Amino acid sequence: MSDITAIVPGTFDPITNGHLDIIKRAKKLFDRVIVAVAVNAGKTPLFTFDERVELTKRVIEDDEELRGVVVEGVKGLLVDFAKKENAKVIVRGLRAVSDFEYELQMAFMNRRLNENVEMIYLMPYIKYSFLSSSIIKDVFINGGDISKFVPRQVVEAMNKKIGRGEV
Ligand code: ADP
Repeated sequence: MSDITAIVPGTFDPITNGHLDIIKRAKKLFDRVIVAVAVNAGKTPLFTFDERVELTKRVIEDDEELRGVVVEGVKGLLVDFAKKENAKVIVRGLRAVSDFEYELQMAFMNRRLNENVEMIYLMPYIKYSFLSSSIIKDVFINGGDISKFVPRQVVEAMNKKIGRGEV
């Protein structure tokens, strides 16, 4: 079988252990994995596009299990990026039923835009199924400990970005 490239897209604002779980699963399945950090016009991210790309890169480069995984910032349509990279697969994580409707909508739209890319959904370990970037930001802003849920580089970046004393 030919080499299959998979893209794991997201806003990664910031990257969490739940995202890493999905990226690791994708790495086991596909020959080449590209993590695509999206601009995401629909959300107002805490970290800028460049910060998210840089932080995601740093986290992935420091993780032994993720050797070979590439991180790219993507502006524009994901399906166009997939075409450019000759990627056949887009991998998304499904945590709960609440993710499903949005994912279904996106899958149908992506299919209309590019028939040659398949969306594939992976479930994380149940311990990560409650984790989201927004809950991490909420917990951090309210003084909670996020170190069990995100890589250490993210704790450092959050401290730098928000700083405990400022909120
Ligand atoms: P987006 O704005 O594209 O949804 P996110 O960074 O919020 O970007 O999520 C990117 C992908 O990672 C999505 O498919 C999302 O469902 C998945 N994901 C996020 N958190 C988790 C988690 N804790 N477990 C599994 N998948 C997750």
